Amino acid sequence: MNIILLGAPGAGKGTQAEKICERLSIPTISTGNIIREALKSGTEMGLKAKSFMDAGQLVPDEVVIGIIKERLANDDCKNGFILDGFPRTIPQAEALDNMGVVIDKVIDIEVPDERIIGRMSGRRVCESCGASYHLEYKKPEVDGVCNACAGALVQRKDDHPDTVKARLDVYHKETEPLKEYYAKQNKLAIVEGQEEIADTTALVFAQLEA
Ligand code: ADP
Ligand code: ZN
Repeated sequence: MNIILLGAPGAGKGTQAEKICERLSIPTISTGNIIREALKSGTEMGLKAKSFMDAGQLVPDEVVIGIIKERLANDDCKNGFILDGFPRTIPQAEALDNMGVVIDKVIDIEVPDERIIGRMSGRRVCESCGASYHLEYKKPEVDGVCNACAGALVQRKDDHPDTVKARLDVYHKETEPLKEYYAKQNKLAIVEGQEEIADTTALVFAQLEA
């Protein structure tokens, strides 16, 4: 099954991607994580992306489309994949269609802006492996330490409140039109993000089985 997760930054796409990945044994492809990795390794692409990312703006379409093309060609995508954070613009969605990639389902996780702004301040990520946590909703076993790799948990620069507002503006302007795009293809399923992660996951699975 080829799945797209849509939703505002902080709506919980990454967390739900992990659950689907466990259940269906298909990889999650997160453009955000790929770009952060490139940044950490100091590649040219990473350096180019940095200023956009830090400002809460989207990285140019051609850069992320290139990343996705390369990643989807990988063997582990043969039995399906979860796209987390791609596409984020109409041209990106069109590029995916033009690659001949067939998407089975697009799950849109809806969370009101006010709740997102509140949540983002508690978000932490592992400096080493990129796993994500939340001070309230998804605590690590040991404060400040990654469960998976014992790396240090830090706040992303773009999770600071002003940048979060900019990212939400970008989301409403550039990404939200994708709902209509996929509704027209009869692929859109809407899930209301719940207070408890497990409750959202149940709704997501129900949509995948529908
Ligand atoms: P979130 O979903 O929480 O916003 P991500 O980790 O998915 O965070 O993305 C972080 C940043 O990476 C974005 O603000 C943007 O700068 C860049 N990025 C990730 N995916 C894309 C994409 N598909 N198109 C353009 N920029 C992207
Ligand atoms: Zn880690």
